[in-house]
Amino acid sequence: MADAGGCIVSAYVGLGSNLADPLGQLARAITALAQLPATTLLAQSPFYGSRPVGPQDQPDFVNGAVRIDTGLTPLQLLDRLQAIEQAHGRERLRHWGPRTLDLDLLLFGDREIHHPRLTVPHPELPNRDFVLQPLLDLDPDLALPDGRTLAQLRKSCPDNRLRPLRPA
Ligand code: ATP
Ligand code: MG
Ligand code: MG
Repeated sequence: MADAGGCIVSAYVGLGSNLADPLGQLARAITALAQLPATTLLAQSPFYGSRPVGPQDQPDFVNGAVRIDTGLTPLQLLDRLQAIEQAHGRERLRHWGPRTLDLDLLLFGDREIHHPRLTVPHPELPNRDFVLQPLLDLDPDLALPDGRTLAQLRKSCPDNRLRPLRPA
């Protein structure tokens, strides 16, 4: 699918929460994503539990991912994701600390984006099983713009004690 300006692009958004009913946070976030302008929610992954990245003195996370088709630009989409985070009471208290909701733009078509506010593909994607596995659930053939397949990356990814929580 073409992804020049004005076209519809397939994008993947990662969701994470470890505060205030994480499963409910993710479910409500997916509802909000489905209501974004010029955007269609195509599929949602199963949810997983995972050990936190960074500080360990916080609850385990619930993670998942969704596939959307969107006519928004990457920065417009980032603005919308951050607005949904704010609406869910997200506070940035410390780096990689606990949060009610984290929405990361993982992939945007086959674009590589290097902007002060936005790096795509998400730079930590290759190192996170809680990102790779939900993406592989959505599409086992997914690859990065540089050609590396997510299935290959998953094999060499560190173990975050990923465990399936329930069917999405
Ligand atoms: P990580 O990015 O390692 O998962 P985080 O999700 O906790 O950490 P945030 O506090 O949610 O980080 O975001 C910090 C900044 O990252 C945001 O202000 C945003 O501008 C920037 N950012 C860069 N690339 C992306 C991306 N692909 N998705 C979401 N935010 C991004
Ligand atoms: Mg994140
Ligand atoms: Mg984030």
